[in-house]
Amino acid sequence: MTTAAPAPQSGTAVPPATSNPYRTALAQFDAVAERLHLDPGIASVLRTPARELTVSFPVKMDDGSIRVFTGYRVQHNSARGPVKGGIRYNPLVNLDEVRALAMWMTWKCAVVNLPFGGAKGGVAVDPRALSDHELERLTRRYASEIGIIIGPEKDIPAPDMGTDARVMAWIMDTYSMNIGHSVPGVVTGKPLSVGGSQGRTEATGRGILYITQEALSWLGRPLEGATVAIQGFGNVGATATRLLIEAGAKVVAVSDIAGGIYRGTGFRWDELRPAQARRVSLQAAVAGADRITNAELLELPVDILIPAALEDQLTAANASRVRARLIVEGANGPTTPEADQILQENGIVLVPDILANAGGVVVSYFEWVQDLQSFFWEEDEVNAKLAKIMRRAFNEVRALHEREGVTLREAANMIGVGRVAEALLTRGIYP
Ligand code: NAD
Repeated sequence: MTTAAPAPQSGTAVPPATSNPYRTALAQFDAVAERLHLDPGIASVLRTPARELTVSFPVKMDDGSIRVFTGYRVQHNSARGPVKGGIRYNPLVNLDEVRALAMWMTWKCAVVNLPFGGAKGGVAVDPRALSDHELERLTRRYASEIGIIIGPEKDIPAPDMGTDARVMAWIMDTYSMNIGHSVPGVVTGKPLSVGGSQGRTEATGRGILYITQEALSWLGRPLEGATVAIQGFGNVGATATRLLIEAGAKVVAVSDIAGGIYRGTGFRWDELRPAQARRVSLQAAVAGADRITNAELLELPVDILIPAALEDQLTAANASRVRARLIVEGANGPTTPEADQILQENGIVLVPDILANAGGVVVSYFEWVQDLQSFFWEEDEVNAKLAKIMRRAFNEVRALHEREGVTLREAANMIGVGRVAEALLTRGIYP
């Protein structure tokens, strides 16, 4: 097991590493702050995380040994409401990554106009290397450690890479036990039996479908028969794969951490489903397909590329070889600023993460509202409301892109950052 040492504390400095999501997030923010002519003082508030908690905590392993794990919870900005953001379990989790993801959550919630600010959390751990009991003990202890700053009125976690509905149920139960009564609204992405929402598990992938449909209809291209390559076969990637196949797209390549598979005639969902259901690798589960690497998948000549695994996948090193015509960012931060520039020069249309993958937080918002009211909705109601919000957000971003001659990412950032800045200015600086 890996435990990362806490990264150096640097409130606002741009980190030096070339491949660092926080560097990407800050560079994107600085560009939009300049474009919006933000007051430098307001800009410095918005580029600085409001609260950062690093916790190192012991977990008793099944063999009786004790290990210390390091986790984080970063609350970026709460000008528009309680903060919201996922919890990631991955060996590479570090403070800068969590800061970047928290900042993106702030803009994402604003771009789809939810009354939330942004946060993110994570533990440096490979969840697949733990037994179920170890995972539960780690989760409950981490939930207790961050319990001092989370709550349904202040900070509401959700799943992200390496966590799922079961982990959310443990967090909800731990928080509830510590506080003395049931608090379903403290996390979203929970199982239905403890206050989850219909449609939440597939919400991010479903949002990607709606955004892809909207982007294609704007570009005057059909989804039917369009070729698609999807990197990442987890909650986001696998759901997007299924829904796109059902909608008539030809998914020709998919991948997970172990590598990818390719077939020019496309895959059927029933061939791919065993990899998701049995949690085995795509290459092991699917017969009769060419094996490709994750790097090769990103450079396939497809109509649509959906990076849905992790950040920093499209970089200065490979962006010039990307041959997709449309990129829909399922993952957070898969494209570095240098790659953005190259893709734009090559005429590739890119729908940015804070818009494309916002479906998850939109249905998390619905779940939180349902929990607070103890009144639960049907799935078609959830999906219809999700579609309305995603389509409206896409068209607001598209309109600004056309009006201002900026990229879709710049337009999304301008809307997101602009709304947060407006809330901050309206509230004023305390005291
Ligand atoms: P997940 O843990 O369910 O799945 C991650 C997938 O990526 C797995 O198939 C894994 O094998 C693959 N992967 C991991 N490392 C890889 C690597 N180095 N190369 C290629 N593939 C790799 O995670 P998820 O919830 O699907 O999240 C994926 C991305 O989407 C993350 O960037 C996350 O922040 C973002 N996201 C998730 C949600 C959500 O609701 N779950 C919402 C918005 C954004």
